[in-house]
Amino acid sequence: MSWLFPRLFAGFLAMVAGGVIGYVLGSPVQAPVLSVLFGGGLAVGALAVFDTLRGVRLIAWLRGAQETDAPRDAGFWGEIGYRVERSIRARERSTLQEQARLGQFLDAIEASPNGVLMIDVNGQIDWCNSVAASHFGLDPQRDRLQRLTNLVRAPAFVAYLQGGVYREPVSFPSPNGLGTLSVLVRDYGDGMKLVLSQDITERERADAMRRDFVANVSHEIRTPLTVLSGFIETMNTLPLTEVERKRILTLMGQQTQRMQSLVTDLLTLAQLEGSPRPPADQWTPVARLLRQVEADARTLSQGRHQLTLSGETAQQIAGAEGELLSALANLANNAVRYTPEGGRVDISWRVLGDGSGEFAVKDTGPGIEREHLPRLTERFYRVDGSRSRDTGGTGLGLSIVKHVAQRHGGELDVQSEPGKGSTFRLVFPAARLRLPLAPADAARGSSEAAEAASSAR
Ligand code: ADP
Repeated sequence: MSWLFPRLFAGFLAMVAGGVIGYVLGSPVQAPVLSVLFGGGLAVGALAVFDTLRGVRLIAWLRGAQETDAPRDAGFWGEIGYRVERSIRARERSTLQEQARLGQFLDAIEASPNGVLMIDVNGQIDWCNSVAASHFGLDPQRDRLQRLTNLVRAPAFVAYLQGGVYREPVSFPSPNGLGTLSVLVRDYGDGMKLVLSQDITERERADAMRRDFVANVSHEIRTPLTVLSGFIETMNTLPLTEVERKRILTLMGQQTQRMQSLVTDLLTLAQLEGSPRPPADQWTPVARLLRQVEADARTLSQGRHQLTLSGETAQQIAGAEGELLSALANLANNAVRYTPEGGRVDISWRVLGDGSGEFAVKDTGPGIEREHLPRLTERFYRVDGSRSRDTGGTGLGLSIVKHVAQRHGGELDVQSEPGKGSTFRLVFPAARLRLPLAPADAARGSSEAAEAASSAR
């Protein structure tokens, strides 16, 4: 109100000054009262015009975008301008803050690994994040305000959305044709809906794999169990000669052995999956592994194959010795098991140009058709089921090899042609290999260190 008294005072002053001037100028015409009134009125009128001009300036500013400051007048209009501008600026600041918050919310929803889509009361798309757009095959800009069910026509989804009962999520093939989606709808606001989508392709695949795995294990165990229970029944009900009894016990032993191998391989796999990566600073001489692998293969072959080992090496490999031995021996034993009597099995080790180490087993066995090669490392995948079982195979050997290779940063590669034999290669990275210091070098190294220490003293 600082403007009120100056304003009243200015009005009063204009009136008095105008009156005095009117009186002085009007004396010659002998009408002093009229002249005072006229002069006072004229002065107040001039003040009013001046005041109106200031008001017009403020209104012009208000009509505009208010990007510049309000007119900086003193008094009444100045205060109105200042207060209006202050409230406009405060509102602008709060709008900017709201926009920033909204932007943060949208960014957070955008960062969600799940799809979020909002539809209005008419079922039209209001907003969606890019994950939802990809799940439903939508374009967030182009498809805005389109009815969702016009664009996503999967019958299960349309029925779910229109059914209005959203307690459980619904699953259906993804409209982008790349797997399976799980969608949950939530009501919010005034008849609006939040559509939350999740790509469950991987989960479904893992579930299917687990189901297959359990079915396969059950099947693998049931077969020897059925044979065993048949033998037990035979022994219980039939009078057997000593020869027959011995034969049956041998067969029972074989079935028990089969189950034991299966359980051992299953435990190995479970352990490989559940344990931390093998140490990178625990070194095993490669030669020791090769000798052990060769010895195992010779025992299995019983002289039925021509078996060679090449690649004398002083190298050491970093990792879990037991795992490495099991992987290398698996490949060599497979070669012996699948190669007919009289065939060749060549086991070798060499260092490749980039410093990586290659363990290879080459055989002259039956070879493998091309279409089986990508599936060999799947659990229980067998090319020749009866040969595998007859030779004590579990169908898990190559999955164990692949796991061990991966855990040591290596790779398994198979090259095979029917009738021409197979070559299984395991390549370990250079970082996992080293040459130990020769004893002379080691001694020189320590004497140099001693010399350095004594000269330092
Ligand atoms: P298994 O215990 O049945 O040998 P693996 O996982 O070790 O299981 O091997 C998977 C399948 O790959 C085997 O059943 C066999 O059909 C095929 N296979 C593996 N090694 C050889 C090989 N050296 N020659 C021919 N076939 C092989």
